[in-house]
Formats: sequence, structure tokens, C-alpha cells
Amino acid sequence: MKIVIVGGVAGGASAAARARRLDESAEIVLIERGSDPSFANCGMPYYIGGEIAERGKLLVTPIARLEARYRLDVWARSQVERIDRAAKRVTVRNLVSGELYEETYNKLILSPGAAPFRPPIPGADLPGIYTLRNLDDADRLLEATLNSRQAVILGGGFIGIELAENLVQRGLNVTLVERNGQILPPWDAEMIVPLQSLLKERGVDVRLGESAAAFQQTTGQLQVTLTSGTLIPADFVVLAVGVRPDNSLAVAAGLAVGERGGIQVDATMRTSDPDIYAVGDAIETVDAITGQPTQIPLAGPANRQGRIAADHIFGRSATYRGTQGSAIVGLFGKSAAMTGLSEKACLRLQRPHEKVYLHAGHHAGYYPGAEQLSLKLLFNPQEGTILGAQAVGGAGVDKRIDVIATAMQGGLTVFDLEEAELCYAPQFGSAKDPVNMAGFIAGGVVRGDHPLRHSDDLLTGRLGDVTLIDVRTPAEYAQGAIPGAINLEIDQLRQRLAEIPSGKPVVAYCQVGFRGYLATRILLQAGFDAANLSGGYTTYSRRVAAGSS
Ligand SMILES: Cc1cc2nc3c(=O)[nH]c(=O)nc-3n(C[C@H](O)[C@H](O)[C@H](O)COP(=O)(O)OP(=O)(O)OC[C@H]3O[C@@H](n4cnc5c(N)ncnc54)[C@H](O)[C@@H]3O)c2cc1C
Repeated sequence: MKIVIVGGVAGGASAAARARRLDESAEIVLIERGSDPSFANCGMPYYIGGEIAERGKLLVTPIARLEARYRLDVWARSQVERIDRAAKRVTVRNLVSGELYEETYNKLILSPGAAPFRPPIPGADLPGIYTLRNLDDADRLLEATLNSRQAVILGGGFIGIELAENLVQRGLNVTLVERNGQILPPWDAEMIVPLQSLLKERGVDVRLGESAAAFQQTTGQLQVTLTSGTLIPADFVVLAVGVRPDNSLAVAAGLAVGERGGIQVDATMRTSDPDIYAVGDAIETVDAITGQPTQIPLAGPANRQGRIAADHIFGRSATYRGTQGSAIVGLFGKSAAMTGLSEKACLRLQRPHEKVYLHAGHHAGYYPGAEQLSLKLLFNPQEGTILGAQAVGGAGVDKRIDVIATAMQGGLTVFDLEEAELCYAPQFGSAKDPVNMAGFIAGGVVRGDHPLRHSDDLLTGRLGDVTLIDVRTPAEYAQGAIPGAINLEIDQLRQRLAEIPSGKPVVAYCQVGFRGYLATRILLQAGFDAANLSGGYTTYSRRVAAGSS
């Protein structure tokens, strides 16, 4: 068996290592265009920022180890230029000598990744306008960083946000330009408000709802003209506006690709040619929740797909379950994580859904150091099937989303989250963990015990004419309340029911939703048409901020 692998980083290196573990006798040839296969793309922003001080730390498995430990035949600075499917042969160019040579295969695995998108903006090819894909790019960006004061980042996705943080760490003035009305577009807008505020607090000039119209070279500097007409000077610019599958080899070889250019594969990672597999950012995969074709460029899926391709080549029955989109991004010690569908995806797909919000400490409040964590859970309102979750906060964000992501893979429901037995000591969590709490709230909604209303419906007027009751203390109410709300503190509510106007639905709220829930139970049992405002005043305020940003 001779396996040739194109692209030696996340998907390609995983496939190669797995193939070797499965078969000592196979010939495995790993061909990589860059100087270093198996490098840590995800670490590059932190190398640029100085957090990872040594470049060598990004070389996860150096060539010598790939050769010694896995007995791979590694060709770096070599580019596969053509696939001859009939002859089962690839043409490779040695990028150092320029020579061409040919390599035959029994099985070919493509893991060429995705290329940063260069938008067709006038001046986008000027010197000083960078993208970040490989270590050469990281070296160039680091050098630019060391001699600059002012940077503009176009794109507020993962890479744009991570770079913003790291350029600030290097002492630069950073402008972040994002076309959408929010950074990190896969998340729902209200969930990402704390990170937007944090960027601004750390001095980043965040320009939402704007893009670049042109780049110009002025004396010694670049100038970015935004679509609003604003001019921003920059020593350098980074384009971080998304990636496109690197499908040129596959297209030239006549392999099937999807509408958005991803190489089409089956669940065993086989392309339309049974002897060619494809994995990673270059492929179109299946959304694990909707079953629809999707392209989600993440390292975890690329690594797992590489393993599956190798498994299948050696007769194992592994299949890929689809991509769920579990992702996390850090920013100045805070983080946002998500899995599955967002609310906006549910709306776009017209998928029946309900949502609950939870704002809780990441561990028991009585133990010092609890950090606030906000969690949003999306689920089917009839069966309680979990559709997705998002969290934002400090510590513990990753753990909650990982637990829910795993529950989703197992087909669990919100009722299972109620029962999830998670480890607990006060410095790590709560006896009722936020995951359990999200399950309790959602379970109460599905069972009909906990009628909910939402801030977005209140703000757009979709709730109609309701009586809003703020059940927080007068001191909390005085610090800011929803316009028109009556303040009836929870501990006096039973005695003051007569003050609530009759004949109108009542919506109770508190700071985060818990006292609002208690009030709702009291009001329902007293005969009111009552509901709780999900996530309370905290979610309401973020909705307002998201709408106005
Ligand atoms: C700055 C940055 C930060 C990231 N951070 C995260 C993160 O925190 N979490 C996360 O999940 N994902 C992150 N990613 C995405 C993650 O790195 C990718 O999803 C993953 O690397 C994809 O694996 P892959 O094997 O498909 O492609 P890559 O890992 O990109 O490898 C493809 C390789 O193929 C080579 N190649 C392409 N064409 C040829 C050819 N014709 N001949 C030879 N070689 C070729 C390329 O040079 C490249 O090195 C980040 C990406 C970047 C750029």
C-alpha cells in the first residue's frame, strides 16, 4: 500500500500518523508546500503577540520526528501540481530547485486546507496588506508588528479577534473593521456584547457595520477608506475576512465539489474517486444537526477526518458524524464558545426552537473568585432535543459548552441535562452546575411549568400590551430598569398582588431570571397570566446594546 498525502498539517499529518499505526509496511509519502509540516496554525496569533515566545514551539512534530517515529517520507517545500487519476500519479514541484517529479499512489489523501480570502477591494494587493495562513505569513506579520504603531484588521471573526488581542499586547493601536453589526458572526449578537465591550475597554477602535472601500499608499503609510468614507491611517493591514477551500487540484482533476467549492466526500472521507480521500478545511461536510452540506474550517474536525480516512483505507469501519461547529475563542482572559445551531441559524432554517438564558457564577458563589458565565441554550420546545448552546464569560465557558456538545452528539435532551452528574467541589463548579440549571430552566419550559418571554420580543413590540413587574429590590431597580416596569420586590410580592393591574398578561423580571421565575410561579398560582423574562435585566441590557452597536 502506498499512500500519498497532499498537505502535511492538521488533517494530513493526522492521516499519516494514523496510517502508520495501522500498517507498519505501508509506504506513506507526505508532501507539504511550506517549510514545516505539522505546525500549529492555531498558535500563530499568540506567537505574533509574544505569548508564545519561541517560534520552534509552533512546530508540533518536526520533520525529523515524523521520519524517525512514524517512518514517513516527508517532502517539504514541495507542491503537488497535478493529479493524473487514470495513472494514479501526482506531479510534484520541488519549490527549492524548481524540478518536477512524479509520485504514484494506491490511495491519495488531499488535505490542502483553505486559503484566506482577498476581497476585491482596490489596493488589496499593496505591500503592507497581509493575510495569516502559515508560518511564513506569521513571520512577516511579526516583523511588521515590531516596527509599527497603527494596525487595521479587516474582519471580526476568530482570526481577526485573536490578532486584535495580540497586536494590543504588542502595544499597537488597533482598528477592527467588521461588516456585520457584531463581531464573531456565528454567535448570536446579544451573547457577544461582553466581548465587544472588552475590545473597546482595551482600546481597540471597533467599527461595526463597515467595510473597507479602498486601500491607498501614502507617504510611508497605508490609508484605509471605510465604506462610510472615514479614512484610517495604518502601518499595516491584516485581511481576516474568511477562507475559501483550496480546491484547485481537486477541480482540475475533475473531483466533485459543492456549491461553495468544498470537495465533496462521503462519511468515510472518500471523494467522487474511490482512491482519493479529502479531509479538513478543503472539504464540504455535513452539518451534524441539520444534515445539510456545510463548510466549517476547524482543527478538531480536520484531525478526526484525517484519522477516519486512514482507518477506511485500512478496512476499518470508521465514519464521520458530521460537524457540529463546536468552537471557542479567547479575548483578554474572557472567552466565548458555542456548539450546534445559533438562534439566527434556527430562524434562517425555520427550525422550531425555544431559548433560555442563564447568568451564573462559574463555581459556587461563596468560594472566592467566581466569574460570571452567561449561557444560552437552544432546544426543540416540544421534545426538548438540544439544538445548540453558546456561552460567554471567564473561566468555565469551555467546560459547559463541551458538556453540552457531547450531550448533543449522544442525542440527549434538556431533561438529560437536568440529570447530568458532573463533578463538583466549590472551586470548580456548583452542586447545581450551570449545565444542570440550563436543563432545569429548559425542562420547566417544555413541561409548561415555566412560561417564558423574551427581551427581543419586548423590544420589537411583539409581546403586545403587558404589565412588566420588576421583582428586584428597590435599590437594584433604581440603578436601571425596563421602561414602564412596576417595582414589586419578590419578598413582598404575595402581599402586594392587588397592585398588579388585572386583565393584562404579566411579565416578571429580575437581574438574571431566577427571582423572575419564582415570581412567575407565585403569579401563576394566584391566577395571573404570567411569564418570566428569560435572562432578566442582564439579557435585556445586552439585547439593547446589541441592537444599538
Ligand atoms: C491563524 C489561525 C488560527 C486558527 N485557530 C484555530 C483555533 O483556535 N481552533 C480551531 O479549531 N481552528 C483554528 N484554525 C483553523 C485550523 O488551523 C484549520 O481548520 C486546520 O488547520 C485545517 O486543517 P487542514 O489539514 O485542512 O489544513 P491546514 O492545516 O491548513 O494544512 C494544509 C496544508 O496543505 C498545504 N498545501 C496546500 N496545497 C498543497 C499542494 N498542492 N501541495 C502541497 N501542499 C499543499 C498547505 O501549505 C498547508 O500547510 C486557525 C487557523 C489559522 C490560520
